[in-house]
Amino acid sequence: MTINNSRVVTYSPAYTIVPTYECFNRCSYCNFRTEPGESPWINISDAASILKSLQNQKVCEILILSGEVHPRSPKREAWFQRIYDLCELALSRGFLPHTNAGPLTFAEMEMLKRVNVSMGLMLEQLTPTLLNGVHRHAPSKLPAVRLQQLEWAGELQIPFTTGLLLGIGETADDWWETLAAISQFHQRYHHIQEVILQPHSPGVQQSFNAPPFNPHELPEIIAKAREILPADITIQIPPNLVNDERWLLACVEAGARDLGGISPKDEVNPDYPHLQDQVLRKILQPARWELIERLPVYPQFDGWLSQELQTSVRRWRNTFKSPVEI
Ligand code: SF4
Repeated sequence: MTINNSRVVTYSPAYTIVPTYECFNRCSYCNFRTEPGESPWINISDAASILKSLQNQKVCEILILSGEVHPRSPKREAWFQRIYDLCELALSRGFLPHTNAGPLTFAEMEMLKRVNVSMGLMLEQLTPTLLNGVHRHAPSKLPAVRLQQLEWAGELQIPFTTGLLLGIGETADDWWETLAAISQFHQRYHHIQEVILQPHSPGVQQSFNAPPFNPHELPEIIAKAREILPADITIQIPPNLVNDERWLLACVEAGARDLGGISPKDEVNPDYPHLQDQVLRKILQPARWELIERLPVYPQFDGWLSQELQTSVRRWRNTFKSPVEI
């Protein structure tokens, strides 16, 4: 069901596990990657210790967020297996995994569906002009490759999160074109649960020399995105990248209804600490917005999950009982 007319804003209590920071792409705005071979992969016993420490902390989602190993690299199979094993481990400890590891093969996606309640991949922008700019050295950012991921996720009935990165060299028309493409895929497969509108926020590692995206533009973009996207897709904004209480509220008033995964660290934007839920409540409550937890899978998709995953999801739905059904 859509909650766009209620005074409810959601977030996902999350923790991010990074299998590896190494990535064969070199997006010039990246503040995450290391060169291939320069970042040790997390091992399963270290991940198990992290998960143990999270057990009584109301963390539900384990976001598995990885740099990419080239599809033809001899290390690809081991990389994929590590991701799969981390998801399986998180599930076995009662958490709900959501993986975002860049473009995957159809077979890899099919495998990960077994151990994830949802998955994600940013579309970023469809315009090919970025291939001569920020994505000049990022083969994974070919628009056709990313669109195919959206299509495969639909065919496989994987609840999916995607989004746009704003302020990396695109035009306003490019935003509407990218949103329209998401809308079309959703109308065919009904699998997109959220669209993230992420403003470019410079960090210390990146080489891309551009100012931060102006947060004052966000409410208008959100309002237009709300018109383009089907009503059952939630618009998400990362509150740590808006950085002004008034504008955060303006984004919510304009139609954003989710603040994403709130974890101790924003691995993609490490220079911008997450605002924790108590802080967000203090901003939202005076304006009569209620902040509540959500799962990394929306209820309308529960039936797409295996029986085993549905059992884990049910436990969390009982824990996160909320005043409105989300
Ligand atoms: S933004 Fe993602 S794909 Fe691009 S270099 Fe960084 S980790 Fe790799």
